Amino acid sequence: MKRIEHKQPAQNRPAALRQTAGRPPKTADSTRPNAFTLIELLVVIAILALLMSILVSSLSKARRQAYFVICNANLYNYGLATYMYLDDNQQVFPFALTCVYSRSTFTSDHPAACRWHDAQVQPDGPLWPYMAAKDVNRCPEFASIARRIGADHPYHDSRIPIEPQFTYSMNGYLSAGDAISPLNNPEQMVKMSQVKRPAGTLFFAEENIWITHQNNTPPDEISLNSEALNDMYFYPRQYGYGDGIATFHKASDPKRLTGLSNVLFIDGHVNAEKAFDETDWNRGYSNKSYNLCVNHEHRKY
Ligand SMILES: [Zn+2]
Ligand SMILES: [Zn+2]
Repeated sequence: MKRIEHKQPAQNRPAALRQTAGRPPKTADSTRPNAFTLIELLVVIAILALLMSILVSSLSKARRQAYFVICNANLYNYGLATYMYLDDNQQVFPFALTCVYSRSTFTSDHPAACRWHDAQVQPDGPLWPYMAAKDVNRCPEFASIARRIGADHPYHDSRIPIEPQFTYSMNGYLSAGDAISPLNNPEQMVKMSQVKRPAGTLFFAEENIWITHQNNTPPDEISLNSEALNDMYFYPRQYGYGDGIATFHKASDPKRLTGLSNVLFIDGHVNAEKAFDETDWNRGYSNKSYNLCVNHEHRKY
């Protein structure tokens, strides 16, 4: 009896009350599905895509800026390491080609064209003990570029994975001797006191993996050949032959052929420089005066 008093049968409730139980009252709009229309969905997706693209591009810009700063610091450390080396070696420069990787790394097992990405080759040159870590040898921006196109090098040995080991190269004009061996007589090696314009003379630069301005053509193509990064000897490009500084930092073109390189000068400052045009170099072979120019000016030391 008590239960019947508290619970009225549904058919006895007022009509309005029956309609609100469990679902909203039916109106003229209730025939429309309670969901996004296709247009609304597309608008939401478009807005999300826009927000994502803004986020991703600003993140990648921030990452590239961080890479640029790390690279700058790497070269600064190269300067500090070399100054310590010079203090211990009567201010005579080390030999560029073998300053970080000695001659013992030139073997048939480690092809010259692939030394820069051969993780089996360990740094053991005279500058190496003055350096803090292997990471200091690598530009972080360079790594992804190298992995993307490094295997396109015509002399690439496909058995050697692309694991960039070094990016920076020393000005070859600071080395007396031929391309492979330093002179036997230390008196003929280049000394710090011979550098007349330390602030204008290239010390170390990050080297490009590709050649630009080849044979005076416009820098519109990536060209990998035997002159691209393969050792730590920076041999200024002339007549379409020789090394060039990096062009990938802060480049606005998609192929990164027109950007900047971090360059360490002998006075220890690091500056971002555009690739030198080959006519900006003055080689001075004949009189061994080691003419060298950077920054679009001929500079002698
Ligand atoms: Zn760099
Ligand atoms: Zn290779």
